[in-house]
Amino acid sequence: MTYLNQPIDYVRYVCNCGSLKPISKIYFCRHCLMIRCGYCVCQEVDSHYCPNCLENLPSSEVRLKKNKCSNCFDCPCCFQTLSTRAGIASAKTTEGEEAKDTKATSKKVYYLFCSLCRWSSRDAGIPDQSVATGGWPEQENPHTTRINTLIDYHKILASIEKQQCEKKKFHPKRPFMPAQTMYSFTSALVRKRIGRPIQPLAQSQSTAQPVPSVASEEVEELPNDIFSESLDITKITTLEQRLRHPEVQAEKINDLRPQHRPFLVKRSQRCRVCEHNVSKSDLCPQSIKFKILLAAFYHIPEVKIVTCEPLQSGKSSELLLKFCNPTQHQTQITLLSLDSSLTTSFAEEKNDTKQEDPQQGSESSLLSSSIRQATVTEDPKPIKVTPNADLKLPQSSLILPPRDDAAEYDDTSDNHNFQDDPKLVVWRKGNKAVIRLHVTPHETINGNKDEPVIVGFVMQHGYVNTIAALEHKSPQKVDVRVKLYLTIGQLASEA
Ligand SMILES: [Zn+2]
Ligand SMILES: [Zn+2]
Ligand SMILES: [Zn+2]
Ligand SMILES: [Zn+2]
Repeated sequence: MTYLNQPIDYVRYVCNCGSLKPISKIYFCRHCLMIRCGYCVCQEVDSHYCPNCLENLPSSEVRLKKNKCSNCFDCPCCFQTLSTRAGIASAKTTEGEEAKDTKATSKKVYYLFCSLCRWSSRDAGIPDQSVATGGWPEQENPHTTRINTLIDYHKILASIEKQQCEKKKFHPKRPFMPAQTMYSFTSALVRKRIGRPIQPLAQSQSTAQPVPSVASEEVEELPNDIFSESLDITKITTLEQRLRHPEVQAEKINDLRPQHRPFLVKRSQRCRVCEHNVSKSDLCPQSIKFKILLAAFYHIPEVKIVTCEPLQSGKSSELLLKFCNPTQHQTQITLLSLDSSLTTSFAEEKNDTKQEDPQQGSESSLLSSSIRQATVTEDPKPIKVTPNADLKLPQSSLILPPRDDAAEYDDTSDNHNFQDDPKLVVWRKGNKAVIRLHVTPHETINGNKDEPVIVGFVMQHGYVNTIAALEHKSPQKVDVRVKLYLTIGQLASEA
């Protein structure tokens, strides 16, 4: 196992929910001072944008546009973005007239073209457009009427439900505004219904249910020539192409129509426990920056396996681990046994950070209108990994200086005159150090040589919480404890 191409899941950090994740997949909530993995954060949609033209739209408009960009199209064959090409309209003139009519008839026209698979709107029989931007014929969904009936029906149900809720809530004093908005909502629907073809009496009532769909066992007959005609596979659409456009599911390549490009979203992540953001990107779709990014990678020391001597059950082998301090503050790392408690000195402070912090509070109230997952807190899952080797932990702790980007390029090897224990620290540079540990695999793994050798420990590191400094207090210094499991390899095969 070499250290540079080491799989990321060789070193796993334990989240408070009990799942084991590599450092690149976890967050560190500065308010709870806890690791939060993907399950422990709520996902929120911040903005919708088109990945091609980068247009950014408010969510109300996005819903009207059915989550698709009105200007950009995907190739129906290979799903790449189509480009608009300009061409000259081929005017149908007789030979004699050609010379004098070229000026009058040469008109610029536009068509859609895929530069990857060479699909073009001309091949598909879509007429060229005289303007470059849009105007492309929209393919009608064959089930539009049915869908609209269902949507209308559910709108009515929703308004009835809302009406009943409000009656219960505000009885006997009902506020004026909500009732009025509610009535205008239903009356708009009623007016819409009046404009419709006359329906049977029972259905014209607003509560009438649309005809329910019925499952049928009858399937369309296969065409007669299905076994006699030879099949041209280049003219038949693939399953993927059909499912890209589920409402039509064209069978022939020529029936494929360009599809509007679906919008992508920018999400932010929020700690489920304290509701503070752990990640929030810049809303502008052109920007790749983050407003808040509490990835664990920037807050918790990273551990990497450098080398490990061949492992033999019952015998001690040397294990070299590299620690890296990503923060702007000096930290002291102490390795503790797996059974040490994870609750640290911040337990009482956790509650008051939750109530204070006015800046974050106003932000969350602003965002309350956006789509947010409900806060769910679950009991931690049991950790399924069982270490099968003993790790001799060092008595002394390791001090790592703050991160200094300039030091990366400094070869003068200034090691800050740390009084390191030479038995523990093997190498040090800037904010990184390699330490030597000893592993003894248990005798029990002898039976199964393929079983990976796993060790675990609790890493305690000094963390300076700058959240307190934002509130004009002195930065708070705490010891954070994180549990880690390392897969260090397999037993060496005996020669
Ligand atoms: Zn978790
Ligand atoms: Zn677009
Ligand atoms: Zn294509
Ligand atoms: Zn939190």
